[in-house]
Amino acid sequence: MYIVFIGPPGSGKGTQAVILAEQLGIPHLSTGAMLRTAHDEGSALGRLAADFLLQGKLVPDDVMVQLVAERLSRRDCQAGCLLDGFPRTLTQAQLLDRYLSERGRQVDLVLELVADEEEVVRRLLRRADLEGRADDTPDTISRRMHVYQRETAPVLDYYDRRSQLMRIDGHGTPEEVAARVQQSVSARRH
Ligand code: AMP
Repeated sequence: MYIVFIGPPGSGKGTQAVILAEQLGIPHLSTGAMLRTAHDEGSALGRLAADFLLQGKLVPDDVMVQLVAERLSRRDCQAGCLLDGFPRTLTQAQLLDRYLSERGRQVDLVLELVADEEEVVRRLLRRADLEGRADDTPDTISRRMHVYQRETAPVLDYYDRRSQLMRIDGHGTPEEVAARVQQSVSARRH
């Protein structure tokens, strides 16, 4: 099963994606985490992505599509995976569909974690204190929210038109949200 997880920064998407991937026994593929690792390792990809990451801007589509295609081609993703943070633009969504359909596969389900802006900004600022993520500063948070509305909202429309989208209320404790996620996925599978 190929599942796409979408949600604004601070919606709890990363936490929920880890839980769901574990429940389903499929790899969790976080493009943000892949880029941060590349950055920490100082690889060519990391150097290319550094400014985009720090400024809360999107890394160019061709770089992202290549990165994800390479990861999807590995053996552990052949039966499915959970994509967290990808696709984030319409072009990425279209190229992902093309990549999967050329291999007789498809995106089976898209989950959107919905949370209001006040709540996500509060969570991000708390995460900044706890984890010290370089892109959790007030300026970058505001840029990332803006980028989400501009670039990622059309991705949601794209999947909604194909009836692939399920919206999940992201408010409440991580356990409450996880229960909602699980319910939506099992409703879809049966
Ligand atoms: P995330 O951990 O998903 O919030 O991603 C952190 C940062 O990584 C984003 O603000 C972007 O700079 C970059 N990034 C992650 N995924 C993508 C993507 N699919 N397309 C472009 N940039 C991305």
